Amino acid sequence: MNKPLLRIPYTGPLPAPRIIPRNANTAPGAVAALSKFLTAPPAKTLNGTVLDPKSTVILSGAGISVASGLADYRGKNGTYRVNKTYRPIYYHEFLENHEARKRYWARSFLGWTNLHKARPNPAHWAIKHLGEMGLVRTVVTQNVDSFHSIAHPEIPTLELHGYLRALTCTTCHNDLPRENFQETLSRLNPAWAAFLKEAIASGALDTENLDERRARGMKTNPDGDVDLPDAPYSTFRYPACPTCLVKPPITANGIQTVIEVDQDGAWKPSSTAGVLKPAVIMFGESISSTVKEAAEDAIDSSGRLLVIGTSLATYSAWRLARRAKERGMPIGILNLGGVRGEEMFFESLPSNQQGEAGVRAEMAADKLLPDLVAQLRRLGFERSSMPDAAAPEGGYINSAVFKDMLS
Ligand SMILES: [Zn+2]
Repeated sequence: MNKPLLRIPYTGPLPAPRIIPRNANTAPGAVAALSKFLTAPPAKTLNGTVLDPKSTVILSGAGISVASGLADYRGKNGTYRVNKTYRPIYYHEFLENHEARKRYWARSFLGWTNLHKARPNPAHWAIKHLGEMGLVRTVVTQNVDSFHSIAHPEIPTLELHGYLRALTCTTCHNDLPRENFQETLSRLNPAWAAFLKEAIASGALDTENLDERRARGMKTNPDGDVDLPDAPYSTFRYPACPTCLVKPPITANGIQTVIEVDQDGAWKPSSTAGVLKPAVIMFGESISSTVKEAAEDAIDSSGRLLVIGTSLATYSAWRLARRAKERGMPIGILNLGGVRGEEMFFESLPSNQQGEAGVRAEMAADKLLPDLVAQLRRLGFERSSMPDAAAPEGGYINSAVFKDMLS
């Protein structure tokens, strides 16, 4: 079976969007258009097999998490961010190369604290309210930060590219929480743990800017990596899968695997199994057919698609939007900057439509979506009976280390 591989996103400049309808170029105009989009009668172009033709499926990307302090892959104008040091790890490197894994885990160790502290932002909370109003049925996200499932656990969320909150064993496929793993990395790498404590205290990890990091006393090499003089990352240690360690599995070919650890429990390269990997889809890794089919089902069950905070640069996301278009679903896009092939999504729209057949707006989701919720409430859409106090809205902080976690 031909599974889609996660590839390095398309990096060319994208043309500026054509705003649709034209009055969606102001915040009130965009709110009015999106309000029509979400509440219009089902499109006549849809066939009769859609489970819930009045509902919307959301497809989100890194742009929705920017207001939580996580870096977007693209800058404001849709061009690739100026970070020449960014080089992601590939799946095959991670699987095959002990040295590459040390580097990955050293960076992840430093980046985890900020990711762990970061919180959903008003865009995620607004989606929760749209769900309570019965307007949003499912969310498909490319993000690995878990913010959707934290903000609105009651709306099913499909995480297309996995999630950083857990690790998975590449041999036995058991999941482990990332949080406990951080403590294990601390224990195995005391010099790094001391360094991390200092770096947090100095604020050096609050920025991705290498000069600012240096100014705050954090020494990085030209690749942006920290390399401690007394503990270079070639000495960084990571644990073996605890399940495989207790009972080394036999492979599908009938070969007994071997797992060897040092006196503290760190994985040794003489092992043939038990390597833990973040539960994210790395570049060059294929998305499982289960996830791929669930994402297609999410598209097929709803009557319209709202794309938020993504340029659809990864093929796995783009093909879902194309699928929605081919099914005759109205498409809305809320994104700062151009979107790959976006003209196609708005071909042959009626010239007098006010948003019911398609919307293209270019505004920050954390500002616009709360206004949209307020407008829908004014129109009589039900507010949830749940007290707002349950949702710590605005409780997000500024940290910017997303790429450290993935690269
Ligand atoms: Zn295992």
